[in-house]
Amino acid sequence: MANNIQAVRGMHDVLPDQTPLWQYAEKIIREVLSSYGYSEIRLPIVEKTELFKRSIGEVTDIVEKEMYTFDDRNGDSLTLRPEGTAGCLRACLEHGLLHNQVHRLWYYGQMYRHERPQKGRYRQFIQLGVETYGMSAPDIDAELILLMDRLWKRLGIRDKVSLQLNSLGTIAERLVYRESLVSYFQQHLEQLDEDSLRRLKTNPLRILDTKNPAMKDVVANAPELMAYLGGESLQHFKAITTILDTIGISYTINTRLVRGLDYYSKTVFEWVTTELGSQGTVCAGGRYDGLIEQLGGKPNHAVGFAMGMERLLALMETLDLPVAPAVDAYLICVGEHAEQQGIYFAETLRNQVAGLKLQIDCVGGSFKSQFKKADKSGATVALILGDDEVSRGEISIKSLRDNQAQQTVSQQAAIQFLQAQTVS
Ligand code: ATP
Ligand code: MG
Repeated sequence: MANNIQAVRGMHDVLPDQTPLWQYAEKIIREVLSSYGYSEIRLPIVEKTELFKRSIGEVTDIVEKEMYTFDDRNGDSLTLRPEGTAGCLRACLEHGLLHNQVHRLWYYGQMYRHERPQKGRYRQFIQLGVETYGMSAPDIDAELILLMDRLWKRLGIRDKVSLQLNSLGTIAERLVYRESLVSYFQQHLEQLDEDSLRRLKTNPLRILDTKNPAMKDVVANAPELMAYLGGESLQHFKAITTILDTIGISYTINTRLVRGLDYYSKTVFEWVTTELGSQGTVCAGGRYDGLIEQLGGKPNHAVGFAMGMERLLALMETLDLPVAPAVDAYLICVGEHAEQQGIYFAETLRNQVAGLKLQIDCVGGSFKSQFKKADKSGATVALILGDDEVSRGEISIKSLRDNQAQQTVSQQAAIQFLQAQTVS
């Protein structure tokens, strides 16, 4: 078996026994998003490399070392999207959706980053992204948090996640802060690791985002960005916390929360968990008003977040949710006529019984072997079609989940029986 081709490292299959949980989560996500009036947008997985360089920033982990970039046959540099914000904004600018309009959008799909694979960190992963455009008031920042709070509750994992909040202020405020941060770290160079020494020159705020435990102290004593915010930024932040307080959503103000990407301004937030080791951030986002201009649009407002689906699913796996079987009824056909008629009878049943999940045994074989497969399918009833039944227009019904005796009824009665059993 040594020659079997395997999946690419860090890219995983979702097998049939796992898909029901994914579908359950996806269904609830759609319901919650539509209860706030959000619309879906579907975007290409491949974009021009330039888009990510311009939006995410040259000196971020993603652009520096995580992108899957290749030249296509025309020699254009293309990249498998590492995140969705840039592509979503590109699409909205390209189609003129941002002119004097307000949008609440979501997308769902694969993202690609060449990271070291470990639990909760993959090279292909799925994000739910939510982006809003055209709204400057803090209410929309708060709405995104309320939406997620509702989603955690609907998914049954509200007690597994907590909210961290910060404000990054405006670009001007951050520049002043940046200077004092750099001078602080310059006085503690011996405590910085190699990555941070490099970031000190390129993107010093990112040092606060370090995952190196040895740097905990030096980061904890660094100046706080909150102290550098002006009146308007503070007011915006206060308005969000007032809404959260009023509704009763608890949060921690984490003045070290900076997010990995450069384009944020004012609000940043993360929903974190302690249940997934160092991959503790399940959902992260904030306001990124500056990005639209950076990509060539007119100045405008944007707030959004992305949630990692694999991390969400890892939290849900412990819940033991009841999963509906893939099949309600299993049709067994024994005898020459029955085997010929089975596939037509199955179609009749599907035509007559809305929502029926019916599997037919296409392999044949003895009654006993078909019955075993019926049981294994998870169906609640086996329908048995023999040559006698075919000639009399009847069918036998045998319950697979309790001890009720097998009964032979007219095919019309069987349809009524299945209609009564099936919730469509
Ligand atoms: P991290 O700090 O864990 O690397 P990030 O800041 O790079 O996360 P974002 O770019 O903000 O992450 O992406 C939002 C969410 O997408 C993350 O909170 C996480 O749930 C998920 N995510 C990001 N990278 C990966 C990955 N390689 N594998 C699985 N999920 C991921
Ligand atoms: Mg990352």
